[in-house]
Amino acid sequence: MKNINIGIDLGTTNSGIAKYENGKISIYKNPVGFKDTIPSVVSFRKGRIQIGEKAREHSATNAENVFSSFKRKMGSDEVYYIKDLDKNCSPIELSSMVLNELVNFAQGESLKSAVITIPASFDTIQSNATKKAGYQAGFEEIVLLQEPIAACLAYSNSLNLEITSDKKWLVYDFGGGTFDIALININERDLKVYDHKGNNFLGGVDLDTLFVEKIICPKIEKETHESNLWEKLISKENAAYNKLFFELLYKAEEAKKELSIKETSNIEIDSDELSISLDIEISRKEFETIIQSKFEESFHLVEKLIKDNHLNFSDIERIILVGGTTYIPYIRQQLQQRTQIQVETTLDPTTAVIIGAAYYAGSKPSELIEQEILNEPKIEQNNIQVETIYEPHSKDSEELIVILLEESFDGYYRITRADGGFDTGLLKASKKIAEFVPLLEKTTNQFTLFLYDQQQKQVFSNANIQITNGLYSILGQPIPNDICLELDEETGKSHMEIIFKKNDILPLKKTIYKTCSKNILKNSDQKLIINVVEGNAGSMVGSNLSIGYIEICGSNFEQDLLKGMDIELNFKVSESRDLSIDVYISALDLEISEVFNPHQRKISIDKLSLEIKNALDTVLEEIRNEEPNENYEYLAKLKRSQESLTVLYNEALENKNDAITDKKYQIDELKKSTFRNLTILFGTNTYCQRWKSTAKSRTAFTFI
Ligand code: ADP
Ligand code: MG
Repeated sequence: MKNINIGIDLGTTNSGIAKYENGKISIYKNPVGFKDTIPSVVSFRKGRIQIGEKAREHSATNAENVFSSFKRKMGSDEVYYIKDLDKNCSPIELSSMVLNELVNFAQGESLKSAVITIPASFDTIQSNATKKAGYQAGFEEIVLLQEPIAACLAYSNSLNLEITSDKKWLVYDFGGGTFDIALININERDLKVYDHKGNNFLGGVDLDTLFVEKIICPKIEKETHESNLWEKLISKENAAYNKLFFELLYKAEEAKKELSIKETSNIEIDSDELSISLDIEISRKEFETIIQSKFEESFHLVEKLIKDNHLNFSDIERIILVGGTTYIPYIRQQLQQRTQIQVETTLDPTTAVIIGAAYYAGSKPSELIEQEILNEPKIEQNNIQVETIYEPHSKDSEELIVILLEESFDGYYRITRADGGFDTGLLKASKKIAEFVPLLEKTTNQFTLFLYDQQQKQVFSNANIQITNGLYSILGQPIPNDICLELDEETGKSHMEIIFKKNDILPLKKTIYKTCSKNILKNSDQKLIINVVEGNAGSMVGSNLSIGYIEICGSNFEQDLLKGMDIELNFKVSESRDLSIDVYISALDLEISEVFNPHQRKISIDKLSLEIKNALDTVLEEIRNEEPNENYEYLAKLKRSQESLTVLYNEALENKNDAITDKKYQIDELKKSTFRNLTILFGTNTYCQRWKSTAKSRTAFTFI
């Protein structure tokens, strides 16, 4: 197997696996129930681990031993206590169990490499956590693919669309736990993500939670003696209420799905412990009323994406629906009515990402296999100058490969196709060789060029000639945030220098030269610190996650590092989000290389409240300072920020004891966007200097 060929959608709610073979995709079915996907749910009971449908069934009755939606905590330091095993499990471990289960569907096939999809908004840490789950499940090679790209690949390849000119599409992905909206450019042969927005804490599960809070709880309260039921359900104080919460959540989800096809749905509630026995009816209208605000949250991101890219809805050719939540008729109607864009529903929105992942895997060469080739005895390349020219994408059944050789070369050449279906045999070489090679349909064809000397001894080979036939390919995946270098200024403050901008296409590479701003003496404990952070270059407050950090101490030097000496910094981000930093100080002949794949960060509700409080104080002070200037427009904006920060701050305080829902993460997500808006606001005012200086998270960077 030359290409990776296996694609996996590791979803928040449901996961699936598919294989690419000879231009076709087959989804590995779950042998139990023969479904395309399994719930991403793990349960632990009496020493048995169950994954998928069975585990989900237990979520209503045995909630404390059942774990779901852990993808939303990927990359966080949160752990789940497994009573049955008396140990903690991380989101990575739980995800690797789901992956293991998927691999079992491939019965007997040995799968070493896979493409795993991630939301477009996953940052470096979340991406690396996903890769780690893949390795823990036994894969040796994981390539990540952003979900909206996968969905587009599924649409463009499966529907055999004939696209003759540039078109723009929106991929509206409302799944179980995350919402993503991506703007895609598609032409005859490739796809490119222009821009995207997303919220990792907006999904179907939030509709279920609202369903319980806003519909079921009031109905129960009306019929029984219960009061403050919602607070009791989510507090860690009372196990009976917690149990009821999970039962209601399960039933709410079932009712929600029923309401996509029926006008009403019924829920039976029976709790002996709490003496509640009820049968309640819910109408589609009631449901639509409560989900309106969640739809608006998603639609706001759609509008913002369009506006930020200076487009109108009329510039978009179609909207592709992805994710189970898009089955909801209200969402389809609203999207259609408010955008007037064709809403595409031809493919199953719950399997599009799996299919797209497999298409991508089918065009992606496995480096594992290249590694095996590398391990073969090495042929000396003899510094022969060879230029190979060909079209990497083709719709034809054959393509031309042109090889330009240096004048002095006198020998033979041979071109082979990796599957063995084509071989030129040994032919006399000339200065310019032109060879038509046949292509297998809807796949990536891999060719190798060999050169031999007059004695027919191999002197050169190039196995990297790839021509993809018929499939849409992607022009690259964009990074969701800026990646910056944190630098010290002589004033003692630090600032961010952008290394890679949001939406730059992976893989990325850049060299930056700096001069040292002060002396670092050998054998001293003074340090040169290189800190690479991910976030928004303008607003580092609270969003500056360190993703790569190198400290070089004077004690390691054999010579002094003097002010003014050059430092060469090379940064690389691989397609699968490994960050490598190479530091080279020529004056000291010192070279340090490190690869980072951070996969954990901490979200603390106390830290969140503090950060929000600090921002609120800054805004209040700005309001006081600005009031005499009578700049009413600016003041009004400040007051709006003050209001949203106050709401957020109160929410953070109120949720200190919420041990059950994902509120903390939702607040973190809102905090990030509020802080981004604040920076834009402050950006027009000199006051932002103070904002930036309070935003500083680390100190003592010794070079600029
Ligand atoms: P993910 O990508 O997060 O794994 P999916 O795309 O599989 O999620 O979507 C799962 C979500 O879709 C769940 O919240 C589920 O309740 C919801 N869902 C599935 N089918 C329907 C339906 N017919 N109507 C409404 N919601 C649905
Ligand atoms: Mg999904």
